[in-house]
Amino acid sequence: MLRRHLAGRGVRDERVMDAMAKVPREVFVPQSCRRLAYSDGPLPIGMGQTISQPYMVAWMAEALELAPGDRVLEVGTGSGYSAAVLGRLGGAVYTVERHASLARSARAVLMRLGYDNVHVRHGDGSLGWPEHAPFDAIMVSAGGPRVPAALRDQLNPGGRLVMPVGPAVGSQLLVRERRAPTGDFSREELGSVRFVPLVGEEGFQQPVE
Ligand code: SAM
Repeated sequence: MLRRHLAGRGVRDERVMDAMAKVPREVFVPQSCRRLAYSDGPLPIGMGQTISQPYMVAWMAEALELAPGDRVLEVGTGSGYSAAVLGRLGGAVYTVERHASLARSARAVLMRLGYDNVHVRHGDGSLGWPEHAPFDAIMVSAGGPRVPAALRDQLNPGGRLVMPVGPAVGSQLLVRERRAPTGDFSREELGSVRFVPLVGEEGFQQPVE
């Protein structure tokens, strides 16, 4: 997986490759999908959601330019897989999931694997996790119509945010925003992606169950 799907598609960061090598993806997927755990595709995890494609996790993690000790927010915990990868790259990771059952099972797997620097919360991550802000990096693992103002507010000066922006159905544009020390934001477009929708107050409208 590492050589073919990640290095072969341009992931260069050694720390990201090392983190991807160390997180056992098979533990984060349902039993019935285990033989596909190291194929480079999303897989179903219940509640109509998916564990992200390994290449996407590596690409987004690389784009976040994480340093050891960075405080990281992830929106869209899903299975907890990408949170585990972020937990190997940064310091404390705060990850929010809107489906209670997914948040519960991700928390259990992460605890079992010993990721005690990764904290999972059930709620609307489009509002961030203000109690633990500010963050050095924010990864949004679901596609929203725009970058939520709440997430921009919770980003440290010098911080990076990576998020798919676009329609709820079809493809989105992966963008990286940087907050300058002056507080201004700059944006880069990284490429086309396809994510499940960010559903919440600052995402697409539907109640959080
Ligand atoms: N990165 C995850 C993994 O490795 O398993 C997969 C993320 S999955 C593609 C997107 C997740 O975002 C889904 O679990 C979905 O329920 C969640 N989600 C969507 N809108 C959300 C919101 N407003 N707050 C928190 N989670 C949200």
